[in-house]
Amino acid sequence: MKFIEATCKRTETYRKTCLVYVDVEGESILENLGNRFSRPVNLYKPAALAALEYTYGVPASSIKLAWSQKAGCRCGCSPGFIATGLPFTSRMIWLTFDASAPKVTEEGKGIAAARVAAVLRDPTIAPALMAASNSYKTEAYS
Ligand SMILES: [Zn+2]
Repeated sequence: MKFIEATCKRTETYRKTCLVYVDVEGESILENLGNRFSRPVNLYKPAALAALEYTYGVPASSIKLAWSQKAGCRCGCSPGFIATGLPFTSRMIWLTFDASAPKVTEEGKGIAAARVAAVLRDPTIAPALMAASNSYKTEAYS
């Protein structure tokens, strides 16, 4: 998995830590919603450490990353790493990797498919997702 870019934003509330999310290029919104509960954390961790070292110039050995399914939300919808050892606190960092990065664990594929099916059954979410993905496509090709 190849690192592409890091984007960073200050959190709304003070934290002694930073939250580090992993995004995979080419993953649709729907796939992303499905995959969030079965991420291949063991593969993401070394890649995230290397990406943080590269981006912020801090040796990976001094950064600590702890995976939390509830990093960004108590319901578990926004998993990520809780990071310490960066030169700042109270930030949310999104690390984007190329499409060769695994999106979901082998064991998690069934869970992800079930979550996608559940999202598509929701009469309020499905049309919004379709509209979002269509406008995205229009922008991309216009
Ligand atoms: Zn949530």
